[in-house]
Amino acid sequence: MIIKNCVTYPNNKIIDIKIKDGFVSGDSDDDITIDAERNIVMPSFSELHIHLDSVFILDRDIENKSGTLEEGISLWDKYKKEKLNPSEMRNRVMKAINLLENNGITRIRTNIDVSDPSLTALREMVKIKKEIKKVDLQITAFPQHGLFTYPENLELLEKSMELGADNVGLAPHLEDTYEEGIKSIKIAYDLAEKYNKNIDGHIDETDDPASRFIEMLAKEKITRNFNGSVSAGHLTALHSYNNQYASKVIKLIARSGINVISNPLINMHLQGRYNSYPRIRGITRIREMLDQGVNVVIGQDCIMDPWYPLGSGDPLDALFMALHVEPLMTPNLLEYSLNMLTYNAAKVFGTNNYGYELGSQGDFIITDAKNPVEIIQYRNRRKVVRGGILIKGD
Ligand SMILES: [Zn+2]
Repeated sequence: MIIKNCVTYPNNKIIDIKIKDGFVSGDSDDDITIDAERNIVMPSFSELHIHLDSVFILDRDIENKSGTLEEGISLWDKYKKEKLNPSEMRNRVMKAINLLENNGITRIRTNIDVSDPSLTALREMVKIKKEIKKVDLQITAFPQHGLFTYPENLELLEKSMELGADNVGLAPHLEDTYEEGIKSIKIAYDLAEKYNKNIDGHIDETDDPASRFIEMLAKEKITRNFNGSVSAGHLTALHSYNNQYASKVIKLIARSGINVISNPLINMHLQGRYNSYPRIRGITRIREMLDQGVNVVIGQDCIMDPWYPLGSGDPLDALFMALHVEPLMTPNLLEYSLNMLTYNAAKVFGTNNYGYELGSQGDFIITDAKNPVEIIQYRNRRKVVRGGILIKGD
């Protein structure tokens, strides 16, 4: 495939992209030529935080009346007990992957709940990962109830690593006590070191300003000189910290090299539920972290499940929300913001060969946009290319 007359993001160079055997190459077999007509052609998006095991389960029995994280968890527990099975999950997962791919995503990191004693969802997801060619998939073993709330949790997390999960998950704010939350962080590092995996946690997903597990997650990475990648999902409590503490902890996050994955759609929906007016916004401090050099990524988290009744699978919707809630609409940051779906996200996924250089993955989004802001403004994607094959558009 040759894509002619591409304008690159973010540098605005005009280039032709040649793709051979799935990768950007110096030559091409010239089967298909696409003229991008001097519009932006950007490397594809990555989705770093989604829960594919619970997508599309919303129905009359699964209505979250309070709109809280906690009611969502109990509804999901009910679903797991009564309805979850491999084939119905597979149908939902494939439907979601199709949506994501159509929106320009070719790398997906999914959380999979590993609190179910039979590990049904994890086993099925590992099978899907082995079979699927349409996207690159990573699985994070997510202990939905923490590691110490039930005696079997810890064993299930370790078993998940043995069964093929890629990342160790954790949720210290869901543990019963502060001490157990801290202990869960140390155990996540122990497991990641033992199985040579990365860490991706749900961290301080609460409005409680006393939830400060992020500092230990960061400090432990520094102390152990942990070489893997560590990501903190949500981090909504950072919104509620006082400014002095927030400033200190953001510097620590930057120093540790931890990635932060914000999920603005669901955070705006679930957070602030224990407030009266004026209501907090319940989204992490994206702008302040970007200013300090933290690698911030935008994720979607949910599609039609007990935690979020909407969701189109479009990462630009999540970015759009972040742009409104956080002070990001300066001309420079508006243009930069697409990095949180592209370069920053690919870095978390561990994709080294990303971009326009020779040898990069041949995954691109061809737009009708003359500048990056138009991509956000019009949700502009004409075609999606995966490894030199057109997967959306004609
Ligand atoms: Zn999540």
